[in-house]
Amino acid sequence: MHDCSNRRWGEKRYHSMDYDLKQIYGEKVYKITLNGGMSCPNRDGTLGTGGCIFCSAQGSGDFAGCAHFSITEQLQAGKASLAGKRPIHSYIAYFQAFTNTYAPVGYLERIYMEAVQDPDVKILSIATRPDCLGKDVLNLLDKINQIKPVWIELGLQTIHPSTAAYIRRGYELPVFERAVNELRRRGIEVIVHTILCLPGETMDMILDTLNYLNRQDIQGIKLQLLHVLKGTDLAADYKASPFYIPSMEEYIELLARCIARIRPDITIHRLTGDGPKELLVMPLWTSNKRTVLNALHSYLKRMDIWQGKDYYD
Ligand code: SF4
Repeated sequence: MHDCSNRRWGEKRYHSMDYDLKQIYGEKVYKITLNGGMSCPNRDGTLGTGGCIFCSAQGSGDFAGCAHFSITEQLQAGKASLAGKRPIHSYIAYFQAFTNTYAPVGYLERIYMEAVQDPDVKILSIATRPDCLGKDVLNLLDKINQIKPVWIELGLQTIHPSTAAYIRRGYELPVFERAVNELRRRGIEVIVHTILCLPGETMDMILDTLNYLNRQDIQGIKLQLLHVLKGTDLAADYKASPFYIPSMEEYIELLARCIARIRPDITIHRLTGDGPKELLVMPLWTSNKRTVLNALHSYLKRMDIWQGKDYYD
């Protein structure tokens, strides 16, 4: 059990990405999603053709930019769409769609360098699979990380083999562990994606995944409620035999238990899903992210819960 220190992360009772970045850059850092035009071995036939069961045709990059435009053009478009808010000087260039290290290393170098050469880009964040980090790619990431911080986001989703097989993740846990070790040897920050409420997973199974991640050298985590998107095999399964999807109140209770279990130094980058409204089949209540987060914040306060309250070594 750890001491309660409600003010440790600013106004929040958890260690949020915004809090971290404000400490470092003195202001909010905005994310611009980019599309490097890559595919995924789980889609192009190398490992499979159907992709992960929940993955949309956009390769989990439903808000990413358009690959027909250069990285510089996508960055300009991203900045223009955020320009109404206030003067912004700091961005995260986020390669989101598909598997963003799955291309010849020369091509990767060109697009990553194009992003980090923008003076407003403070961080390069790259979503990928742990089985797409060969030595040449790791060395490239190491090189870019000397120029600007590189975050690697790994889609683990769960540690449970039965669920991993159902969602067609396509790699085993030791592959993930090797990737984390190789990235950390090079000083690169690792952010892990998890999906909550996958079919067949109990609360204890979710906590098992978090306990496991607490023991890994990871710096960030994304918690995402399972979203059923139109056109996916998951949507077909849901239609054939609906599985449990929590209400907003149930999800907030579940999320609070997860937050209490997460190691206090791990930065929480996401707490809910933000699937595109036009593709969302279930759960529809998630489309109002602000409502969900406000309800979570008041629940944490009311129940006196904070990140790491139930963490144990
Ligand atoms: S690894 Fe990512 S891009 Fe590839 S199928 Fe799975 S979710 Fe989609």
